[in-house]
Amino acid sequence: MDWTLTIDEISDTQLEQALSLAHVPTLMATLMHLQGSCDPLRGDIRPHVAQLAEEEDGLSEGARDKARKLALAAIIAHRDAGCPALPTPDDAMVSETMQYITGIPFPEEQLELMREELNLLDEDRRRVPVDDTSVPAGYRVLVIGSGMSGILAAIRLQQAGIDYLLVDKNPEVGGTWYENTYPGCQVDSPNHLYNYIFEPNHQWPAYFSDRKTLFNYFQGVAQRYDVRAHARLNTRVTSSTYDESANCWRVDLEDSRGRTTQESFSAVIAACGQLNTPAMPDITGVDSFQGITFHSARWEHQHDLSGKRVAVIGTGCSATQFVPAIADQTGQMTVFQRSPNWLLPVEEYHQPVSEEELWCFRNLPFYAKWYRFFLFRARAIDGLLPYLYGEEDWQGQPLSVGQKNAELREAMEAYIREQAGDDLALADALVPDYPPGGKRPVLDDGSWISTLKRDNVTLETSPIAEILPEGIRTADGEVHEFDVIIYGTGFHADHFLLPIQFTGRDGRDLHDTWQGDPQAYMGITVPGFPNLYLLYGPNTNIVVGASIIFFSECEMRYIIGCLKMQFEQGLASLEVREAVCREYNDSMDERNRMCAWGSPHVSSWYKNANGRVSQNWPGTHFEYWRQTKKPDPGDFLAH
Ligand code: NAP
Repeated sequence: MDWTLTIDEISDTQLEQALSLAHVPTLMATLMHLQGSCDPLRGDIRPHVAQLAEEEDGLSEGARDKARKLALAAIIAHRDAGCPALPTPDDAMVSETMQYITGIPFPEEQLELMREELNLLDEDRRRVPVDDTSVPAGYRVLVIGSGMSGILAAIRLQQAGIDYLLVDKNPEVGGTWYENTYPGCQVDSPNHLYNYIFEPNHQWPAYFSDRKTLFNYFQGVAQRYDVRAHARLNTRVTSSTYDESANCWRVDLEDSRGRTTQESFSAVIAACGQLNTPAMPDITGVDSFQGITFHSARWEHQHDLSGKRVAVIGTGCSATQFVPAIADQTGQMTVFQRSPNWLLPVEEYHQPVSEEELWCFRNLPFYAKWYRFFLFRARAIDGLLPYLYGEEDWQGQPLSVGQKNAELREAMEAYIREQAGDDLALADALVPDYPPGGKRPVLDDGSWISTLKRDNVTLETSPIAEILPEGIRTADGEVHEFDVIIYGTGFHADHFLLPIQFTGRDGRDLHDTWQGDPQAYMGITVPGFPNLYLLYGPNTNIVVGASIIFFSECEMRYIIGCLKMQFEQGLASLEVREAVCREYNDSMDERNRMCAWGSPHVSSWYKNANGRVSQNWPGTHFEYWRQTKKPDPGDFLAH
């Protein structure tokens, strides 16, 4: 079939085929637009997203058929009428459809966020308008890092008429999507949500596209906004010192040949990411192995793994992506698991988006916007988070933190056992001994356990005692010989901003201040460090939910809001008050303690060396959105 046909060219039969694979709650929203009425939503076709149920939209096959027939008739009528422009639905109709799409009501106070996220009229309400005549002459911002959040910072500064320089240590923009090239690397947030609100892509080839697709997307956006014209690549920031007399940051920049220059900036936005310094495990003999060895984030593609004896250390989100992707090439592979991960069933994890649905995204009125909105409600707002909150003095299932968490545990354990089938020893080895949500769950369509069951793959759970020139010795005394060891051992996530040295007001050193326990107000500003802003900073990571892009967009709105406030009030610097930051972090600690990831049974990269959860945001998307909407002048010392 020719899927390049547009809505006015397509035949009834082809249209019927396209709709047969359409997402039904989204199709009903399109129907609302076509009919200019919410009447179709008031009948018996009622989605209901139940997080622990198999069927994502809660509709029976009969209801889905009926919805498709209604939509088919309406689209044919629309086509036959010559595809007239559709009237903009009024606020009440939009609200009713927003409530309808997951079947779970949301409170009135969330309406503004919902409208902003739906972005029906392409208004990009997260962009903060700045009067560019208020920007002081010579005002220039340094953005460190050109990954997802650095590109966003560059675009928002540009839109506000603020000059900037974007630097990155890498030769290309793209951050994590440039650095991670391991086989099987793909996004683990729904891709139709994992894109900037103002630069939606409705033609993702998969529901969770591969890293190359993501890299191309970010490169494409950077190009469209001409970010490269303000970028200096192959450049590292080595240190940055706040000059109180001039109210600016004096920044040392080092190029790829090691030559250092110093430049001054009115403000600095650090968009360095949390997950980019590969962590090698602290195992005796780690440097002694004589074969091929590399970390997943520095994949050495020149090695042919065919027929090789390969060890993989780690079973986190990275390893669970690359192990299934390389298992069939290796001669024999042993996966060393220190602790198993909870698996979150996602049927479409490796599925391409069909030609039919791609057609719907391109052609059906407002379909793409409502699909993204459905995901936002189903995954971010109505998502699993309530299942990860603990109850004070919980006396139930000891490896859970509350009743809902225990229910989630039961469902997730059942999934693992079903996958493991008759192999009870494998099932026992794969059920985590910590509450679900303690770590980021691994999305799974069955490929993890089916890979572990392959004849050429062995799961090794005896702890690693030592790495030897010829392989690995486990605690049970066995020596396993290998040609290759691949480290899927994660990142130094708590090394926020290292190795850059930041010296703030009164000669205060950022890393000495933090002492390995990074804290910031809203994850964005730090007392003693005026005009310094962080993106994806402390306590802004999400364990489940929508996409980290949402958080970066909220953070950038807040930062541009700070700059705007500074310009409008003629302030030379803004610095968050110590007490405000302390109080905020006390509340973070209190709330994180009550989350699954704060449980004493969990050891993960979310906790720093002090045992404090310095990575995770404990609240809802709505709360983060609300608190970052606009800076409160009272939170700051202004000079
Ligand atoms: P990770 O989650 O930190 O996993 C590291 C793995 O290495 C764990 O299984 C850990 O075991 C194991 N390990 C570490 N040191 C060890 C040692 N000394 N001996 C034995 N095992 C050891 O790292 P990751 O898999 O790279 O993922 C990090 C984060 O990156 C994820 O949580 C996710 O947020 C992000 N990520 C995202 C994507 C995506 O979106 N596509 C893909 C990959 C990663 P323990 O669990 O026992 O510590």
